[in-house]
Amino acid sequence: MSKESLIKYWKENFNFKEEIIEAFKEISREDFIPVENRELAYQDIALPTFKAQTISQPTTVMIMTNELEIKPNQKILEIGTGSGYQSAILSILVKPKGEIYTTEIVPELIDFAKDNLKNYKNIKIIKAKGLGYKKEAPYDRIIITAAAQEIPYKLLDQLNPNGIMIVPVGPQYSQQLLKITNEKSLKIKNLGDFVFVPLR
Ligand code: SAH
Repeated sequence: MSKESLIKYWKENFNFKEEIIEAFKEISREDFIPVENRELAYQDIALPTFKAQTISQPTTVMIMTNELEIKPNQKILEIGTGSGYQSAILSILVKPKGEIYTTEIVPELIDFAKDNLKNYKNIKIIKAKGLGYKKEAPYDRIIITAAAQEIPYKLLDQLNPNGIMIVPVGPQYSQQLLKITNEKSLKIKNLGDFVFVPLR
């Protein structure tokens, strides 16, 4: 696969918004992958980062991003910075004034992401203490890129009314990707089965 063939595949099989495809085009996924696997950057697979963690599969990143329905200038929380790739995509979509706050627990990945994202002015990488980042709450959108065993209802305290949260929920080797909309009552939509590394 190549960057172009991934885009062709998405155009034929998904209905992603054009600005999301444009963000994908703008960012080099190879820059977010440890050197030994860079030639695999445009295979549609998750790849290892460090400490048994991964950078998500491109199609998964696109589905999650598309379902977040991001608008310019929004404030977004990501849990699970990993390589920083998902944050980079989000940072383009919230321009010119939006901000991305992203939390990570693994120190090696914080350093890796800081290096990968050094030219991205609207992304703040935070060492996770507890779930989310209360200090900057509330957020317009929350994206969790690791698998929760149960729906983290507590995090809804950090989400704006009418906000959207995307979270994979389920046991270790198979989760359902859920889209939770915080309207007058909670709406939960299942986006399908996926596999993520566990949320800790
Ligand atoms: N979004 C990343 C993929 C991350 S994989 C990318 O684009 O590359 C999920 C990440 O979540 C892992 O790096 C893992 O270390 C991190 N993680 C697990 N539990 C966490 C928690 N409670 N808070 C923050 N990060 C967590």
